[in-house]
Amino acid sequence: MRSRRFSRVRKRRMMSYDYDLIVIGGGSGGLAHAQRAAQHGARVLVFESGPLGGTCVNVGCVPKKVMWYAASIVHEGALAPSYGFAPHASDHDWSTLKTARDAYVRRLNDIYARNLSSKDIEVIDGRAHFVDPNTVEANGRRYTAERITIATGGFPRWPDLPGAALGITSDGFFELEHMPKRIAIAGSGYVAVELGGVLQALGAEVTILTRFDGVLRSFDEMLREEVAGALAADGITVEQHAVPTSLKKTSDGLTLETEDGRAFERLDCVIWAIGRAAATDDLNLAAAGLEADADGFVPADAWQQTTVPHIFALGDVTGAVALTPVAIAAGRRLSDRLWGGMADRRLDYENIATVVFTHPATGTVGMTEAEARAEHGDAVRIYTSGFTPMRYALGSEKRHAAMKLVCVGEDERIVGCHVFGDGADEMLQGFAVALRMGATKRDFDDTVAIHPTSAEEFVTMR
Ligand code: FAD
Ligand code: NDP
Repeated sequence: MRSRRFSRVRKRRMMSYDYDLIVIGGGSGGLAHAQRAAQHGARVLVFESGPLGGTCVNVGCVPKKVMWYAASIVHEGALAPSYGFAPHASDHDWSTLKTARDAYVRRLNDIYARNLSSKDIEVIDGRAHFVDPNTVEANGRRYTAERITIATGGFPRWPDLPGAALGITSDGFFELEHMPKRIAIAGSGYVAVELGGVLQALGAEVTILTRFDGVLRSFDEMLREEVAGALAADGITVEQHAVPTSLKKTSDGLTLETEDGRAFERLDCVIWAIGRAAATDDLNLAAAGLEADADGFVPADAWQQTTVPHIFALGDVTGAVALTPVAIAAGRRLSDRLWGGMADRRLDYENIATVVFTHPATGTVGMTEAEARAEHGDAVRIYTSGFTPMRYALGSEKRHAAMKLVCVGEDERIVGCHVFGDGADEMLQGFAVALRMGATKRDFDDTVAIHPTSAEEFVTMR
C-alpha cells in the first residue's frame, strides 16, 4: 500500500506539464486564485475570453456601484433644501456618466493586466475547453497543467418566451447609451431592485414584475417590508404575480404580456433580471471526466474539489453563494492550501454578509427570523428597532431605517443581523465579524455606542 502510494507520487512528479495550474476564467475568483498561486511559486496560465475582471468589474458590482452612487446623489439632492441649499439641478447627462464609468472600468482592466504580468502569470485571450483531464485547448492550441481550476462564472438568464430578445439583461443595461424612460424589469432579486432603484432615481418610470409575493423573497421579512416601502415611496411600481408570457414591439414601443392577461404597454426597455446560469456549456466537461449538475453548475466539495481530484471549481460556476468576495476568498484559500502549505485552509460558507444596493441599502448576515424559528423554535428572541435617522430631522424628506437582531438560546447568541437604512452597506461588515466570533446580545449591550449614528441602535436595542 505504502509503496504503491509512493510510486504514484513519483509517477506524477515525473510527468511534465506546461504549467502547475491552469485557470479557466479571469473573473473575481479565477484571478484571485491565480495570483495567490503565483505568489506561492506556481507556474500559472489563465484563459479569459472577455475583458479581465469578469462579471464584477465589467458588468456587475463595479459599474453597478457607480450607478448606485449616481442615484444616491439624487437622493442627497432631495435633502439639500432642508439644509439651506438651493434645490439641486435635476438635469442628468447619462452619456457623461457612462463615458466616465466605462473609462474607470477600462482602468481596472489595465490594472489587472499589469498585476498578472508582474507576477509572471500568462494570460491567453480565448475561450477554453477541456481536451482531457490535464489538457485545455483554446484558439486551436493545447496546454497542459498538473491542476486545473474552473472559474468560468455565469451569465444572465433569458426567459424562454416569444419576443424575449427585444428585452435586455443586466449586461445590456451597462451598454445603454441613453437612459430609457419607461422600463419594466422582470425579476425579484438583487438585480431587479438595484437597477430599478438606479433608473427611477435618474428619472425613469419603473415597474418591477415579480412572479410571487414581492421582491427579495429569501431575505428577512422586516427587510422585505422596508424595501417594498422604499420602492413604493420612490414611485417604483411592483406588480406581483406577474409572470411574463410575451414581449412584442408595437408602434407605441414594447408591450409585455403576463400569464394573467395583463399587458404593460408603451415601454421603451424591458430588463430580464431572473437570475444567472453557469458558463459551462462549451467547456466540454465530459472530456475531463466531469459532469454539470441539473442546473448546469459544476459542484465542488468544501475544498473546492470536483469529482476529479486535480480539477477544482470556484465562484459562481459552482452554484454556491454568488458574490465576488466569496469567489475571491475561495480562490485564495484554495491556492494557500495547494501551494502555500496551509493544509486546513478553505472557505467557510456560513454567515456570509451581503448588501443589496437599494436606496437606502439593505444588509444581512446570518439567519432570517423565519430560518431561526424553524431551526430553534422557542429558543429564538428577536430585537428590532425602527427609526428615522437624524439626517432627515430638518425637512419633509424622510427615509426610514430598521434593524433586527436574531438571538438564540439562554445566552442570546446572535445568529442573524439585518439592517435597512443609510449606511447599512458600510455598517454591516464589522457586525459580521462579531457574529462569526459568536457574539451574544450581552456583548452588544456592553459595547459603548458611537453617537450620533444609526449604527448605535445595534448596541442599544431593548
Ligand atoms: P465571473 O466574474 O463571472 O468570471 C468568470 C470569467 O470567466 C468571465 O470573465 C468569463 O468571460 C470567463 N469565461 C467563462 N467561460 C470561459 C471559457 N470557456 N474560457 C475562458 N474564459 C471563460 N457581487 C458582490 O459581491 N457585490 C455586488 O455588488 C455585486 N453586484 C453585481 C451586480 C450585477 C449586475 C451582477 C450580474 C453581479 C453582481 N455581483 C455582485 C455578483 C458578482 O459579480 C459575481 O458573484 C462574481 O463576479 C463571480 O466571480 P467568478 O469569478 O465566479 O465569475
Ligand atoms: P437572483 O437570484 O437574486 O434573483 C432572481 C429572481 O428572479 C429569482 O430569485 C426569482 O425570484 C425570480 N425569477 C426567476 N425566474 C423567473 C422568471 N422566469 N420570471 C420571473 N422571475 C423569475 O438573481 P439576480 O439576477 O438578481 O442576481 C444574480 C446573483 O448575482 C444574485 O443572486 C447575487 O448572488 C449576485 N448579485 C449580487 C449583488 C450584490 O451583492 N449587491 C447585486 C447583483 C447580483 P422569485 O422566486 O421570487 O420569483
